[in-house]
Amino acid sequence: MTTRTDQQTVLGDILAGIERRNPAQPEFLQAVHEVLETLGPVLAARPEFADSGLVERLCEPERQIVFRVPWQDDRGRVRVNRGFRVEFNSALGPYKGGLRFHASVDLGVVKFLGFEQIFKNALTGLGIGGGKGGSDFDPHGRSDAEVMRFCQSFMTELYRHIGEHTDVPAGDIGVGGREIGYLFGQYRRITNRWEAGVLTGKGAGWGGSLIRPEATGYGNVLFAAAMLRERGEDLEGQSAVVSGSGNVAIHTIEKLWALGANPVTCSDSSGYVVDEKGVDLELLRQIKEVERGRVDAYAARRGASARFVPGGSVWDVPADVALPSATQNELDENAAATLIRNGVKAVSEGANMPTTPAAVQAFRGAGVAFGPGKAANAGGVAVSALEMAQNHARTAWPARRVEDELTRIMNDIHATCHETAARYGAPGDYVTGANIAGFERVADAMLAQGLI
Ligand code: NDP
Repeated sequence: MTTRTDQQTVLGDILAGIERRNPAQPEFLQAVHEVLETLGPVLAARPEFADSGLVERLCEPERQIVFRVPWQDDRGRVRVNRGFRVEFNSALGPYKGGLRFHASVDLGVVKFLGFEQIFKNALTGLGIGGGKGGSDFDPHGRSDAEVMRFCQSFMTELYRHIGEHTDVPAGDIGVGGREIGYLFGQYRRITNRWEAGVLTGKGAGWGGSLIRPEATGYGNVLFAAAMLRERGEDLEGQSAVVSGSGNVAIHTIEKLWALGANPVTCSDSSGYVVDEKGVDLELLRQIKEVERGRVDAYAARRGASARFVPGGSVWDVPADVALPSATQNELDENAAATLIRNGVKAVSEGANMPTTPAAVQAFRGAGVAFGPGKAANAGGVAVSALEMAQNHARTAWPARRVEDELTRIMNDIHATCHETAARYGAPGDYVTGANIAGFERVADAMLAQGLI
C-alpha cells in the first residue's frame, strides 16, 4: 500500500520529466503542476492508475498540429501566421475546445488550454474529450474582410483534422460569432457538407444553440452563487469586480445584475473602468459588441459615476466577489493580498487560469471561497455539447430549456467538486475537488480502453 507522500514523490518525478521535455512552455507547465500537486490522494487510493502510466499519458497530447496560415491584408501585403490545434485527449468523446486568436498564442499556451479542457469537459459529465487551438493572429484593428480572409485560410488547413465525431472547435479570446461564421462557411464550402456539429458557437439561425454566447459568464456567476450558498450567504446585494470586457465578462455582468448583485468594473488590456452606479450593460455592449471599441470610451460616455484608470489593476477596487474574466495570470499575489485586505469572500474564475499559483495559495490560506476555472467556467463548453446534441438531432431547443440544463450542470459540478474535496480530506477546497473529480472520470475511461 503506497501512501499519499509516496505518490506525491512519484508525481514529482513525473513532473520533472515533463519539465525536461517541454522547455519554454511556462503556461503548460504551470497548468500541469497545478493539477499534479493535488493528485497524491487519489493515486494512493487507486494504485491501478499509477501502475498504468496514466498520469504520463494524460500529460502528453494525443496529437499536435502546427500549420502555416498565409493571408493578404487590405493593402495587398502578404502576412503569415501560425495555426495550432492540440488534440489532447479523446477518452470521453470527440476533442472539444475553443480557438484563440491573440498575439500571445504559441504551442505552450494552446497546450495549457487543452490540458485544462480535459478536466473541465470531464466535470460537465457530458461525452466530450479535450482539445484547443488558435493562432498568433491579432484581430485588433483588422477589418471584417481581413478577418474573413484569415479565417478562410486557417480553415483551409484545419478542415482536414476536424469533424463532428472527431474534433469540434468553438470560440475563445478573439474568436466570437463573426469568426465562427467565416470558419463554418469555409468548412462547408471545402467539404460540401452541411455538418452543423463540426463547430459550436454558431449563429442561432444556422445551427447555433440559444444561450451559448451567455453560457460561460452565466455559468460562472451560478458557480459563485453556489459557493456563497454553501457558506450560508446569498449573491444578492454583493458587489462584484469583473475583469475583461469580452464575451465572458459581458455575460458575467448580465447575470450578476439578474441575480441582484452589483458589478462595478470591467477592463481590457489598456486599463479598467470603475462605475459607482454599477456597469451599464447596454452602453458596454454598444461599445464592445457593435462598435468594437475600448473600455475608455465607456467611461467617457457614461458620465460622472464612471472613471477609466489607464494601466491600473482592476483588483484594487474593493468588492465582495471577484470574477476574473480576461486572460491567464491576470491576478497575482499582490492583487490577491489587496482583495483579501478589502474583504473579498469569493473568487470565481471565468477566464482560464487567471489566478497565479501564489495568488491561489493566498486565497486558500485566507479562507476565501475559490472556484477554479476548470469547474467555474465549464458552462460554456457544457452548452457547446448541448449545441452538438441539438445539431445531431436536427432540432433547436428553447432558451429556457438550455438555461435550465446549464443551471443543473453548474450546480452538479459544484456539488461534485465539493463532495470530492471532502472525500479526499480537503473540505471546501474546490481546486482539489475539481482536479480529482475530473481526473477520476478521464482516468477510469482511459484504463478501460487499454494502453493507447
Ligand atoms: P474575448 O476575446 O471576448 O474577450 C477577452 C477580454 O479579455 C477582452 O476584454 C480583452 O481585452 C481581455 N484580454 C485578453 N487578453 C488580455 C491580456 N493579455 N491582457 C489584458 N486583457 C486581456 O474572450 P472571451 O471573453 O471569450 O474569453 C475570456 C477568458 O475566458 C479567456 O481566458 C478564455 O479562455 C476564457 N473562456 C472563454 C470561454 C468562452 O465561451 N468564450 C469558455 C471558457 C473560458 P483586449 O481587447 O484589450 O485584448
